Amino acid sequence: MPVLRGHHLICLYFFAGEGYAAEFIENLRSTLNAAKSEPIEICAGADDICRKCPYLKDGLCRYNKNAEEEIKKMDNAALRLLKLTPGTQIKWSGIEERLPEIFFEWHKSYCGDCDWKIACEKKKLFQVLKSNQFQRA
Ligand code: SF4
Repeated sequence: MPVLRGHHLICLYFFAGEGYAAEFIENLRSTLNAAKSEPIEICAGADDICRKCPYLKDGLCRYNKNAEEEIKKMDNAALRLLKLTPGTQIKWSGIEERLPEIFFEWHKSYCGDCDWKIACEKKKLFQVLKSNQFQRA
């Protein structure tokens, strides 16, 4: 069963084949495939994607000085928006159907300063959700 942390439950929908390193990308792809076919277990902290990340040290994110704290805030925000809690399980389709409702808030809070924004913007789903949010504004 794939295990995912809060922000990956949202950001993974926009994976466009890019990542930090070949091993990281390969693991991300296989975790994504598993998430599409099996129930996902929600966790707090490092997950199945983080475990092949070159920035994970002793179970903590060392992408930059404040990364661990910022990522945890992102996880909490994602779970609050999706109305989910660590330890529960959900299907990929169950999250997908909530994305239109939560994307306005998520994009406003997190996508603007994200290093992966250019990659996410290549995905049709991201473009559609973004265009829907401008229609709402
Ligand atoms: S731009 Fe960043 S925060 Fe926004 S969905 Fe993509 S990876 Fe997540």
